[in-house]
Amino acid sequence: MDKFLVVRYGEIALKQGNRKLFEKTLVNNIKRQLGSSTVERIRGRIIVSVPSERLKAATEVASRTFGIQNFSVGTWTSYDLEDIYRTSVDLAHEEIMRGRRTFKVETRRLDKRFPLKSIELNPLVGERILEKIPETSVDLHNPDFKIEIEIRDEGVLVSCGKTTASGGLPVGVSGRAMLMLSGGIDSPVAGWLAQKRGLDLDAIHFSSPPYTGEKAFDKVLSLARTLSLYNGGREFRMYSVHFTEAQIAIHKHVEERYSLLCQRRLMMRIASKIAENNGIVAIVTGENLGQVASQTLENLRVIEEQTGLIVLRPLVTYDKIETIELAKRIGTFDISILPYEDCCTVFVPSNPATKARLFDINRVEAGLDFEDLGARALDKSRMYRLKNGEVLEVGVIGVPQEDS
Ligand code: ATP
Ligand code: MG
Repeated sequence: MDKFLVVRYGEIALKQGNRKLFEKTLVNNIKRQLGSSTVERIRGRIIVSVPSERLKAATEVASRTFGIQNFSVGTWTSYDLEDIYRTSVDLAHEEIMRGRRTFKVETRRLDKRFPLKSIELNPLVGERILEKIPETSVDLHNPDFKIEIEIRDEGVLVSCGKTTASGGLPVGVSGRAMLMLSGGIDSPVAGWLAQKRGLDLDAIHFSSPPYTGEKAFDKVLSLARTLSLYNGGREFRMYSVHFTEAQIAIHKHVEERYSLLCQRRLMMRIASKIAENNGIVAIVTGENLGQVASQTLENLRVIEEQTGLIVLRPLVTYDKIETIELAKRIGTFDISILPYEDCCTVFVPSNPATKARLFDINRVEAGLDFEDLGARALDKSRMYRLKNGEVLEVGVIGVPQEDS
C-alpha cells in the first residue's frame, strides 16, 4: 500500500479572490522542503508522496508549514468494495497500534456514479473493521480516529489519523518582513507570528563583541535556524550587525537614562536601511506594551521615528504567559532562556526614561553622527543565509553608501 499525506488547507479555501496564488504558494513551499516530485494537487487537497522511510519527516514538515490546516495519512484504492474494505482495515490497524480504540467511518461521495450512498457505505466498512479488529469499537460522537473515504473521479481516497497543523497563510503571500531578533523570548515568537500571517522573513541581530560572547551569538543563530524551519523552505537571511563601537559612542555621548532608547533608534535605522535595500517594507519587533517600564507608547513612538517602514508588533496584545507558551510550542523557549547576555543587557541604564519626548532625544543625540555610526557598524557585519534549519553560507552585507 503506497501511503502519502493528504493535506487540507482551510483558510485558503475561504479567500476566493486570492485562492489561486495561495494554493500555488503553498504547493511551492511544500516542494521547497520535500522536493519537487512530491506534490500533486487534486481539487481542494494536496497530495504529498514521499518514500515510506521519509513519511515521518514529511509529517513534521506538514505540521509546521503555514497554510496547512490539517493532514492525514492516506492511500488510493479502486472503486472495488473489497479494495476499500482492505485499505480501511489496514489504516485502522495502524491507529490501533498507536493506542487508539474507537473509530467512525465518514464517506464523501464526490463522484455520484458510485453505486452506494455515503450512509450505505459507512456501516459496511465499519462492520468489516470490527470483524477484522475485534478490540475496536464504533463511537460516532467522539471517536479516537476517523476513517475518511472520498469517492472521487480519480479513484477512492482513503485516509485516517487527522493531525491539526499550524494554520495561517503560506509564507510569501503577504510579502517580506525584517525581524529585529534579540536573544530574548519575545522576538522569535513575534517572528513566528509574522510568518504565520504569510510574511517571508529575514532577521537582523545587533551584538557587541567582546561584551557579548560567542555563546550569545550562537544562541541567536540557533533561534534564527529554528525560525528558518517555519519559512516555507524559503531562504531566511540573518544580518548580524557589529554594534560595539556604536554602542560605546552612544554610551559616552548620551545621558544614561536615554542611552537605551538611543541604541534602539539606531538599530531601527540600520534595520530599515537594510530592509529597504532588499525591497522589504515591514519591520517586526517583539515589543510589547508595559511589559518592562521602558515599553510605553511614548518610547515606541520615539524608536519608530527612525524608520519610514511599517512596524509590526505581533505581541502587543499578548500576556507574557501566552508568549512563553507559544515559545515552548515552536521550539524557541529552551534556546531563549540560555543565560548568555545580548547586547542591550550589557549597557542597560539603571533608570531608563519611560516617557521620552522626541524633543529630549534630539537634544541628547545632537552631535552623534548616526549615518556614520551605522555605516561603520555595517562594514564589520555579516549576513548568514539559512534554509530549512541549516546555515548555507556566510557573507558580507552589501549596503550602498549614501553618496554613491
Ligand atoms: P525580547 O524578549 O525579544 O528580547 P523584550 O521583551 O526583552 O524582548 P527588549 O529587550 O526591550 O524587550 O527588546 C524589544 C525588542 O527590540 C525585541 O523584541 C527585539 O525585537 C528588539 N531588539 C532588542 N535587542 C535587540 C538586538 N540585540 N538585536 C535585534 N533586535 C533587538
Ligand atoms: Mg530582551
